[in-house]
Amino acid sequence: MKTPTELREALEAMHSFYRRATVAVPLNMPQMKGVFLGGCVCRGVGSSFRAQAHAHNDRKDEFFGWVCFRSIRRLGNIVLVECDDGTTEIQIVKPGKVLIHEWAHLLIPDEGHTDRWRAKMKELGQRIPKNCQKKTR
Ligand SMILES: [Zn+2]
Ligand SMILES: [Zn+2]
Repeated sequence: MKTPTELREALEAMHSFYRRATVAVPLNMPQMKGVFLGGCVCRGVGSSFRAQAHAHNDRKDEFFGWVCFRSIRRLGNIVLVECDDGTTEIQIVKPGKVLIHEWAHLLIPDEGHTDRWRAKMKELGQRIPKNCQKKTR
């Protein structure tokens, strides 16, 4: 068991890593302006939100084009490159399905889980998560 102090220190170490890390956007995802880790780009590292990730796909949003992840784990297959200035560049070798899901939102701006978004997901070879399928009633 970790003590509350150890847990807090582990969290602080993670946040400090996120603050010094930048994610290199995959070249085949030019619509993605940036990937923010450890919170939402508009509120900074340590801010929280419900889902694993979200895309800022509202064209009126000043952070339009950004994708925010709560943690590094769902990015996909990555490599970490340590830079001389103490920062780390995270390179995405193979985007994970959450990243592709959010990218599809950027490709269909101003919409949520709509038919057009689902069509884009299919085009990208992705399965539609259950809670994003068309509601029938
Ligand atoms: Zn965000
Ligand atoms: Zn979604």
